[in-house]
Order: sequence, then structure tokens, then C-alpha cells
Amino acid sequence: MQKSIQILIKRLIHITNRKIILPFYHTVSNTPLHFIGNLYAVRDVKTFERDLDFFSRFYEPVSINQLYEIVQKGKFIRKPVFHISFDDGLKEFYSIVAPILKRKGIPATVFVNNNFIDNKDLFYRYKIGLIVKELNSIQNKTLLDELGKILSVSFIDNNHLEKVLLSMTYKDIQKIEDIAKIIGLDFKEYLKNNKPYLSSNEIKDLIKQGFAIGSHSLDHPFFKHIKSKQQQDQIVKSFNDLEERFNIQERYFSFPFGDERVNAELLSWLHKQENCKLSFGISGLKEDISRFHMHRIPMEKSLKIARSIIRHQYVYFIMKSFLGKNKVKRK
Ligand SMILES: [Zn+2]
Repeated sequence: MQKSIQILIKRLIHITNRKIILPFYHTVSNTPLHFIGNLYAVRDVKTFERDLDFFSRFYEPVSINQLYEIVQKGKFIRKPVFHISFDDGLKEFYSIVAPILKRKGIPATVFVNNNFIDNKDLFYRYKIGLIVKELNSIQNKTLLDELGKILSVSFIDNNHLEKVLLSMTYKDIQKIEDIAKIIGLDFKEYLKNNKPYLSSNEIKDLIKQGFAIGSHSLDHPFFKHIKSKQQQDQIVKSFNDLEERFNIQERYFSFPFGDERVNAELLSWLHKQENCKLSFGISGLKEDISRFHMHRIPMEKSLKIARSIIRHQYVYFIMKSFLGKNKVKRK
């Protein structure tokens, strides 16, 4: 790395005084994962390792418990730190990511959805990913009309259909199932054959290896689309299940799809009543209303290398600070 870039990164950290970065991913794979569709730009092993080398060069790796300690004590940290996490509990964390992290001595947290452990079900966005992939190979007017009936839209072509499919939400799960049936896509079969998620045994082994497991809700709804009672249910049941199945007592939560419109009351309940030590959104370097609710940096919006993503985050942070927009506001 050029000397001038190294100096720049160090200066950016110093000027902003943002000494904690929390990069997060979903998976790492050298082969395409069809269910991901165009949701994330999945990194290959080589790019991921380069990311890790970049983080380790400027930041000290810390475990999530160490991160909590820093936050709780308001500890002054001389050397900047990073904690890396993975959402959705995909199997590559076990087979690909964990061995790399172990070799490099980097701790990490995996945020899992209880209902998907052991490949019992598939996240609805991944279902849509598979449907879109399947439809790419089918061009059929009668089929378009049939699907149009379910969705109450008259489709012009596959692109139109794809656009509508990608805009579907948690509430449309039944429709997504109906569409899959019509095009002959069997999710249970897909789960059985491909096992995209971690198994209970793999999770137990990861815990033994020292990795942390946090909650990412039961089945990945966008919290802004569900009522507050359901939000609480998704959290309580998920934590209880993690404790029952894996004896996980340290509670950490990452909001599925991020924390858009999550209100102050829920955050306060989560930290105080539910004893959740830290919760996470995805707004990069921003601060929030509670120091126990932190923001992570999405690493899979593009295949850009870590250096350029992190540099951009700092520059963006500086620009926003002039406008006083570096703190998330909540109702
Ligand atoms: Zn997720």
C-alpha cells in the first residue's frame, strides 16, 4: 500500500475520532450463490482476505464482548479497533470464513435467524432470488399471465415481473410460495440439496472455537413493516431459543435489513428489559441515540476493496458533520 494512502487513512481516523469500525458481511464464496441473486456483491476468498489485511493494518481486532466493555466503560482506546460480523447464518461462515479468521486471529460474530438454522426454512428474499433465477430461463406468456393473476398485475415481460418480485415484502410470503409452486420450484428440496444455512452442530462448534452467536430475529422481517408487538416477539423468542438450544447468555442483536424506523422505546426495552448488551444497525460510522446501539459498515454493496469503502465512510462522515447529520434521529 502506498505510503500516502496509509497516512491518509490514519489522518481520517484521527480527524473524525471514529476509532471503532464494524464491517459486516453475509458470506464469502468463490462460486456464485443463486439465492443471493443481486442482493449483495459476494466477495471471493482473495478479496475477503485483502479486506482483513487492510482492517488488521489500521485497527486491532476485538471480540464482541471486548467491544461491549469498551462501550460500557466509555474506555479511551489508543489504537483503533474493529469487530467483524456476518448476518443470516449462512454455511460458508463455517466452511470458508471461520478457518481464515482463526488463522489470522480475528474474532467475529454471526447473527442468525432461528427459523433458518438446520435449513428448516429459507429467508423470503432468498426465495425471491431463486424465483428470479428460475424465471430467467422461462419465457412464456401463459406463465406471465398466470403469475399476473396472483400478484394482480398484468406483466409486460420478465423484467417487469422481476421488478415486482424484488419489491415484495415479508407480508407477501404466501404469494411468494404460490409463485414458486406454479413454476415448479420446491424450496424444501432446494434446502435439502444445497443446505445454505449453518446446522446446529456447526453453530455449537463455532461457539467452541470462540466465535460469538447473536440474534438476527426469528425469520428476518423488515421491522418497519411489522407492529411493535411482533417486533418484540421476534426478539424475545429468538433470544430465548438461542439460550435454550446453545446456552447463549450474552445477548447481541442485529436488526434484519437495518434499523430504519425502529423507535427509541424499542431500543430502550431491548437494552434494559431484554438485557441485550449491544444492538446494531447499518449506518456506517454514524452515532445513535444510545451508545449501546451501534452502526456497522455494509461491505457488500459493491466489490470495491475495503480500503476504498472505509475511506469513503470517513469522507462521508466528515461531509455530514458539517451539516450536523452524523447522529441518527429517532422518534
Ligand atoms: Zn440479514
